[in-house]
Amino acid sequence: MSRKKMILDLDTGIDDALALAYAIGHDDIDLIGIIATYGNALTNVTAKNSLDLLDLLGAHDVPVFIGESHSSTTSDFTVMPISQAIHGQNGIGDVEVAASTRSVDSQNGIDFLIEAAHQYKDELIYLPTGPLTNLAKALEKDPSIAKLIGQTTLMGGALTVPGNVTPFTEANIHQDPEAADYVFKNQENLTMVGLDVTLRTLLTKKHTQEWRDLGTTAGQNYADIMDYYIDAYYNLDIDKKGAALHDPLAVAVAVDPSYVTTLDLNMQVTYDQESGDYGRTIGDKAKLLEPTISKAAVLVDQDRFVSDFQQMMLKVLA
Ligand code: CA
Repeated sequence: MSRKKMILDLDTGIDDALALAYAIGHDDIDLIGIIATYGNALTNVTAKNSLDLLDLLGAHDVPVFIGESHSSTTSDFTVMPISQAIHGQNGIGDVEVAASTRSVDSQNGIDFLIEAAHQYKDELIYLPTGPLTNLAKALEKDPSIAKLIGQTTLMGGALTVPGNVTPFTEANIHQDPEAADYVFKNQENLTMVGLDVTLRTLLTKKHTQEWRDLGTTAGQNYADIMDYYIDAYYNLDIDKKGAALHDPLAVAVAVDPSYVTTLDLNMQVTYDQESGDYGRTIGDKAKLLEPTISKAAVLVDQDRFVSDFQQMMLKVLA
């Protein structure tokens, strides 16, 4: 199998930091760039986090591009208190990672995505693990990328389980439901990796102790970052058995779909503020008889994934 070009669109973010490490370590992935978006922190903070982590892991040649700084329907953005409680004030568990000497690329993230779609076509995997604002914006600017991008695998949404912001809404979708709806209705070959599967993939301090035991700066930093997240899951009573590997599972599924069982379904996102199910990812009733352009992951081989993830981290952090 030839290496796939991948663009990560991250709101880095603790599990985004894991997705970044997993993508760097994977032999089948050529990480051609990271787009920074808002969510777990402000866009300029998530961009800095990605640059710092790339340098920490020795990936000095992966560029970071700036994406949107707020949703398609607002003029600014404030980090949700729950995001800060889970990811820390700085987005990466309040851990001080050595500052990168690099700066962000001068090209805008949306233009970078459009250009890459035309250049790499089927070979390109676009993988957003935050709000879908950047892709919606890119689609608006150049609708042809809906068919050009080989594959879009996103972390977000909840189909068969409750949301984590409201009973219907998952956090990434909640940031910009209108953009998400536009993406679900237009972007072809899309796979949703949502809470249905990610909540079943749990990491514990037994795993992070092995990162720590590597004796490297990367192992130490990543263990400190992940332990903050595991503690937050425990203290906020999200899950006392471990912390969910949301974003890295999406990366794994993008290159090995056999980790999950998917349901073919044309989807939509509801965004009527009055309706009570604001931000819900659900089947599009108007397109039940049309050919499907998207899939939702509903089951996961969690033991295989968590084990493979841990092996990857031990390789990347060594
Ligand atoms: Ca994320």
